[in-house]
Amino acid sequence: MMNDAIAFDGHVIAPETREFLGKRGKLLINGQWVDGMEVMETCDPATGLVLAEFEIGGATEIDLAVAAARSAFEGPWRGMTASDRMALMSRLARIMEQNAQMLTELDILDNGMPSFIAGLTTANCVEMVDYYAGAIMRIEGSTMVPPRHIAAETEALTYTLKEPVGVVGQIVPWNVPLSTAILKLAPALAAGCTVVMKPSEETPLSVLALGQMVIDAGFPEGVFNIVNGLGADAGAALSSHDDVNKISFTGSTRTGRAIVRAAMGNLKKVSLELGGKGPVVVMPDADLEQAIPGVAMATFFLQGQNCMAGTRIFAHADIHDRLLEGLAGFANYMVLGHGLDPATQQGPMISSGHADKVIGFIDRAKQAGANLVAGGERLDRPGNFIRPTVFSECTSDMEVMRDEIFGPVMAVQKFDTMDLDKIAKLANDTPYGLSGSVWTEDMSTAHRLVSRVRSGHVSINCHGAVGTNIPFGG
Ligand code: NAD
Repeated sequence: MMNDAIAFDGHVIAPETREFLGKRGKLLINGQWVDGMEVMETCDPATGLVLAEFEIGGATEIDLAVAAARSAFEGPWRGMTASDRMALMSRLARIMEQNAQMLTELDILDNGMPSFIAGLTTANCVEMVDYYAGAIMRIEGSTMVPPRHIAAETEALTYTLKEPVGVVGQIVPWNVPLSTAILKLAPALAAGCTVVMKPSEETPLSVLALGQMVIDAGFPEGVFNIVNGLGADAGAALSSHDDVNKISFTGSTRTGRAIVRAAMGNLKKVSLELGGKGPVVVMPDADLEQAIPGVAMATFFLQGQNCMAGTRIFAHADIHDRLLEGLAGFANYMVLGHGLDPATQQGPMISSGHADKVIGFIDRAKQAGANLVAGGERLDRPGNFIRPTVFSECTSDMEVMRDEIFGPVMAVQKFDTMDLDKIAKLANDTPYGLSGSVWTEDMSTAHRLVSRVRSGHVSINCHGAVGTNIPFGG
């Protein structure tokens, strides 16, 4: 079912979004929109209805895109001054700003995220492009005093020069489609690299819209190429390609391992941003009025399909019962619905298959003896909705406490000590280490805990405090 027949739960979308959905998405290779080897459909996860068709490619299309990126890198892109590249990126930011409503609506429809999140991430993407445009003119090297064995022989100058890595393959997931794409594209362009991007086959739309904006901004052909396709096909071809200098990947840990193996052929550089299972430590003096909604959204933001999600909640015995009651109440009153509805706080899971996986985790948590205090089921309506779910009486050995679920499922574990080393040991009992938080009114306790929790970043009295100029890693 295409276009006019799509029901957006009665919500109106911009004419340009509707027009975009009516055209089959193609591959962007060397500045041209071209056909691929097959056609796929993408669905609205809130209704299950088909949104649009798009072409996908495989190894052949990846070869063509890499060749285009290579000649742009060796040719016009390399020859351009930093000021000209900055001007192009600033123009791209303005075009994205002018089309912000369409970009926002495409991510809502394709991914299911609520409009308040999609609006925020689009604005943040514009900011990121501006930020990296500004960074172009601040790329600096350094000079060093020549070491004796060089200086003694001759008049010598020793210095470092920052140079672009070359052709970069970028493989992105479905959970924040535009944002993860821009997080990779903007710094790569600023550094003078050229790019072949493979979006997720679940959410191709906003990156395709971005591709047209890159063309409209006037970037030379081949600087940004897009090859939609399946992970095991186009993704594998890109990560094993001998003429790709670097792969930047965000996605699951399992795929991250496959990419490292594939990159071994030409020993290309690899950057990985993988899964998460963040710890959230709530101390007895925490301000619960702030902590209850904050901890709830640490788990439920973006339906829990969020690598930074704080889903392992450690609650001190003194506040455990009040916190749990508040979290269950918050979960029960969350508004689930279509992302286009401004009242929606939580949207659907990305796919029916993923919703089944999340329900599997919930069923196994019950069997393992965790106590279900809220949610735990699918909504009886079209789309892939799962109620925000809270488990108490969890222990460190339970799957619900250990494995990344990537859904709206919170596991609460009680602790009864003020020994910060023991608390940190509980929080660190996981192979993940992306994002954590501590909740306390005592700043000395807060900072001492922050330094003990092994996460890429740890927030105090909030969760997932990231931003364009804040380092992000784990
Ligand atoms: P995924 O690993 O299944 O897919 C991610 C991308 O990799 C997709 O584009 C997919 O097509 C591609 N891919 C799949 N198999 C491949 C292969 N063999 N070779 C090359 N590419 C391949 O992950 P997902 O389900 O799309 O995303 C969810 C995961 O991403 C979660 O684990 C989540 O934690 C993680 N994630 C991490 C971050 C972060 O910044 N750390 C951000 C968002 C999501």
